[in-house]
Amino acid sequence: MEQRPSGAKIQAIRGTRDILPPDSSRWLWLEEKCRGVLTRFGYSEIRTPIFEYTELFNKGTGETTEIVQKQMYTFVDRGGRSVTLRPEGTPSVARALIEHGLLRGSKVMKLYYFGPMFRHDRPQAGRYRQFDQLGAELIGAPGPEGDAESVHLHVSLLRALGLRQFAVKVNSVGCPECRPAYSGIIREALKDRVGQLCEDCVERLQKNPLRILDCKVEGCRRIAASVPRISGSLCSDCSRHFEKLKTLLESIGIEFEEDPGLVRGLDYYTRAAFEIHHGRLGAQSALGGGGRYDNLIALYGGVPTPAVGFAAGLDRILLAVEEEGVTIPIDTGVDAYVVAVGEATRDKCFSIAAWLREDLKVELDLGRRSLQSQMKTAGSAGARFAIIVGEDEMASGVLTVKDMTTGQQEKVPEVDVSGYLKRMLGK
Ligand SMILES: [Zn+2]
Ligand SMILES: [Zn+2]
Repeated sequence: MEQRPSGAKIQAIRGTRDILPPDSSRWLWLEEKCRGVLTRFGYSEIRTPIFEYTELFNKGTGETTEIVQKQMYTFVDRGGRSVTLRPEGTPSVARALIEHGLLRGSKVMKLYYFGPMFRHDRPQAGRYRQFDQLGAELIGAPGPEGDAESVHLHVSLLRALGLRQFAVKVNSVGCPECRPAYSGIIREALKDRVGQLCEDCVERLQKNPLRILDCKVEGCRRIAASVPRISGSLCSDCSRHFEKLKTLLESIGIEFEEDPGLVRGLDYYTRAAFEIHHGRLGAQSALGGGGRYDNLIALYGGVPTPAVGFAAGLDRILLAVEEEGVTIPIDTGVDAYVVAVGEATRDKCFSIAAWLREDLKVELDLGRRSLQSQMKTAGSAGARFAIIVGEDEMASGVLTVKDMTTGQQEKVPEVDVSGYLKRMLGK
């Protein structure tokens, strides 16, 4: 058990981190860009709790998945109930839809969420134990248009962030009709090579053989490549669905690659699965992925409702943004800095700043510093104007407004200052 050394300074928990300014403004930019795209696609935001009863994930995410077996932050709360910090968002969305009676036959709903997820995984570049995801769920759309729209939305989000060097991978993981037969084919194909599989895959061979195709261990990857592809085992409905999805993607100019090894790590996927990878992120290259999960809502006892969606990893997306050298416009500038000349004018400066802030970005000295260092701070804060308030200005009600770029000074009556600045700033 990892224990914090006693007497040491308290630090953030391994696998978590603080997002400090100005870095935090990159996150704001990312969220705003994404919200814009999501709104254009007709999505509304849903906010669910960050912890749920453990059963929700055991049942939905799946007992055989790595997430449930090894990565969940599960604890017993003070009421003696087992609760878990959410490792992913989809189960919570499904639960919320059922709980609030929102599922109505063929009604289509589009929901998105932003927020932290928690997985006890080995931390590495672009992978944290508390990480941020954006998820988008399309509920009530049974046809391949839904899958295609979901892929298109994911691609559009990345494009809106200025990303270009990513690749879309698609596959079909079949359905409860055709998957058991394919699982049988995998078992048959590997029955004499069990000894060459990793420990996890030996277990997967019994419980969920498809997941062997997705194992990262080199030996397993080689063996997996020899297994017949799922495309030959799909039932006619799954096969038609997958073909139509590909045609639709082509029709809107989305390039993709078929990847038979793409099975996703979660049990609830049916039919289409997709992932988007970035060419410059090394081993942790997946920016996001998802697929269809027609049986999840019924599994939770809800009205059987088809659904398709994805989750994108925002930490990695920001790394990709950096890798591609996308410039993030960050407005750090200040419209005006109110400068106090002498102690007696500080209260006046405080009230001037207060009412100017109704329309403008205004700073003033809260550090009780000298006139000289106030002017210096105004300069380094990037203030366009300095409003200088001395005793003369207080007495006359006419303030000195200095343009920090030209150095020119104007006398402006106090009542006109806001209008003057807005005019000069083009606001
Ligand atoms: Zn099928
Ligand atoms: Zn393996």
